[in-house]
Amino acid sequence: MKRFTAPNRQHDYSFNFWIGCHRFSEGCQNCYMFIAQTGRKIDPENVRLCTTTWGGPLRVQEEAEQAGECRSVFACSYSDFFSPEADAWRNDAWALIRETPNLIWQLASKRTHLIAERLPADWGNGYKNVWLGTSAELNKYLSRLDELRNIPCVLRWLDLAPMLEDLMPELAEHIDGFGWVNAAGETGCNAVEPRPFDLQWARNVRDMCSSRGIPFYFSHTGGRQRHPGRLLDEVEHNGIPPLTTGL
Ligand code: SF4
Repeated sequence: MKRFTAPNRQHDYSFNFWIGCHRFSEGCQNCYMFIAQTGRKIDPENVRLCTTTWGGPLRVQEEAEQAGECRSVFACSYSDFFSPEADAWRNDAWALIRETPNLIWQLASKRTHLIAERLPADWGNGYKNVWLGTSAELNKYLSRLDELRNIPCVLRWLDLAPMLEDLMPELAEHIDGFGWVNAAGETGCNAVEPRPFDLQWARNVRDMCSSRGIPFYFSHTGGRQRHPGRLLDEVEHNGIPPLTTGL
């Protein structure tokens, strides 16, 4: 369980139930999991359970409960929570999520068509501590937002990372029902050249969010550097919904 200590972070922790994935669409081309795993000579397409780390969320739950707070956890940054290859383990993941009501689980998937049939039987209108998210790197994938809107949950979020083209004005026609938007350019590394990113694309999304009262978070401009710029028109955009739904 990785803790983020930088101020104004997008989430407090990240946690991987399992690791590994198959590329699904253009946004996956320079997936950092593929880069990192390949660099360690590990097959990134071998989806495998992280067996030794599941106690971490329970410890953070205890701390958060004692403090009377909620903490956010971005799950499966090195995989896809709704990957079919993780079907055998997901019930255990749901059980852990139920045991940690003070943790706000941010679950994202590009595979929105697979989500409904992989929700737990007692999902109802959505677990109070789960935010469901998706991403759309190109306009042709905005239909993922429509698929996610059909799934009940306490908060839907959109992770536009990386943005590969201007998504406005079409995005405005799909954003109803979403309560949080994150945008970013693509990051690279020494061996990988990130694809072009135009700040105007992020400005257009920022302005749309502003006009609708949707919290907007700008992660970074992208680029090769390890910590690319976070400013958009000289302002840090750190919008995030309040972490209160789990209490
Ligand atoms: S879905 Fe996510 S984890 Fe899987 S290959 Fe694409 S970017 Fe990587």
